[in-house]
Amino acid sequence: MEFAVISRGDEVSEAKKEIVTQYLNGQGFNYNQVFPRVVIAIGGDGTVLQAFHTYKHRLESTAFIAYNTGHLGFYSDWDNVESLLEAIVDSSLITVEYPLVQAEVEADGQTVTYQALNDVTIKGVKGSVQIDVRLNNHHFESFKGDGLCISSPSGSTGYNKSLGGAIVHPSLEIIQLSEMASINNRVYRTIGSSLVIPKHHILTLLPKADTYMLSVDHESFPVESIQQLTCSVAKEKIRFLRCRSFPFWNRVKEAFISLNDCEPRGGR
Ligand code: NAD
Repeated sequence: MEFAVISRGDEVSEAKKEIVTQYLNGQGFNYNQVFPRVVIAIGGDGTVLQAFHTYKHRLESTAFIAYNTGHLGFYSDWDNVESLLEAIVDSSLITVEYPLVQAEVEADGQTVTYQALNDVTIKGVKGSVQIDVRLNNHHFESFKGDGLCISSPSGSTGYNKSLGGAIVHPSLEIIQLSEMASINNRVYRTIGSSLVIPKHHILTLLPKADTYMLSVDHESFPVESIQQLTCSVAKEKIRFLRCRSFPFWNRVKEAFISLNDCEPRGGR
């Protein structure tokens, strides 16, 4: 089987990368950076995002393993290299699939499509922004504030959570729109709550100014002459290989509430 490893680049992650690569090569696996069937991301959530963006063009044939070497890895459930290597060699891994956000940006007469594992955000370059929000092509509200965040279910525990959005189980194929500090008065009015938007529904954002800052997961960049941003649940999903059943709600509890008193693991 072809595999590749992406490391955060720190000393610990690089050492684990060396162990993983040598062991798997010795077991007859082939290191293949271009066409890997399995990508092992060693580091934290940022490393998982980096691995996803490196191989998002081949999601159908590539699965991801997230190995955590930091203090908090929301995507990772591996932190023991021996058990990881045994599970890869024995093929005793569980596959879970997570929905993604698809964002089509129309700017300067061109459309560019992005996929996000966590979220897409749109903000102003300086100051607040005005954005018309349309749902399934009907005007819903006119937003003024710091910006808007569109998250996937697995990204709902990232930026979306800091914005007061709901935490969504990744078995639900939805995207979520959350406001960043909306201004509400007699002139500007928004719903104030996050909106959970199902598959096949289309969220269209029509910005009123010319240049905006867009972020797709860990990358931010300015977009000039933006006409609209259309978001929906992507057709493709990401596949993670897990060593054990680690229910999503246990992961949420371990990450945000307490490490020590989770229920025994079992189920997804
Ligand atoms: P980063 O280095 O700024 O780290 C952001 C933190 O978010 C890290 O602690 C990371 O472990 C955590 N994180 C990332 N994805 C997560 C997820 N799905 N669930 C729970 N925690 C998660 O940036 P990074 O590591 O490159 O990650 C980029 C992500 O950071 C963005 O996609 C966005 O979700 C998040 N972010 C959060 C805020 C905020 O909460 N105010 C602001 C900007 C970006």
